[in-house]
Amino acid sequence: RATLARIRIAGFKSFAEPTNVEVRPGLTGIVGPNGCGKSNVVEALRWAMGETSAKAMRGGEMDDVIFAGTATRSGRNLAEVTLSLEDAEGLAPPPNQDQPELEIVRRITRGEGSAFRVNGKEVRARDVQTMFADIGSGARASAMVSQGRVSTLIQAKPEDRRQVLEEAAGIAGLRARRHEAELK
Ligand code: ATP
Ligand code: MG
Repeated sequence: RATLARIRIAGFKSFAEPTNVEVRPGLTGIVGPNGCGKSNVVEALRWAMGETSAKAMRGGEMDDVIFAGTATRSGRNLAEVTLSLEDAEGLAPPPNQDQPELEIVRRITRGEGSAFRVNGKEVRARDVQTMFADIGSGARASAMVSQGRVSTLIQAKPEDRRQVLEEAAGIAGLRARRHEAELK
């Protein structure tokens, strides 16, 4: 369920200019010279899915994801990543659950934090995280395994490993919602 069709990256990390990454069926890898931005593409995806850790983005603070400038190009004050999903019926937060095509946008403004929109409607980070938890591919789910995470998993405490298994099984979203309901 739900297919990622496109990632649009603008002002994020090394992507100073708006860049479209088409995710076609059969895509198995991204190749290119060292430092060309391969990991940054994956980080853009992870970030738009609701990643909250600047460290996981290889930065000190979240503003570090904004294009910082180069010798010939000045830095930006805004970064935006848009994920285009297809076949996503039932996934968006209510009341937009019937929409099959979703545009999930995360935008960060320097010094002002970030905001999320789903099909133009502002939502909470939690809503986006829950959407992806439901399809078993959250920013920290097993479908996204970053360098170093394999050994961390092997050495993890059973409770932490269980969290990963629950995300893989697609039930982490249910737990998050139950927790939220219990707080109310
Ligand atoms: P490797 O093959 O070594 O893994 P890679 O293709 O994965 O390389 P990335 O790590 O995605 O490369 O990109 C690294 C580049 O991104 C570096 O040149 C770094 O300067 C640049 N970069 C990272 N953050 C920013 C930023 N905020 N602004 C501008 N450039 C950035
Ligand atoms: Mg890399």
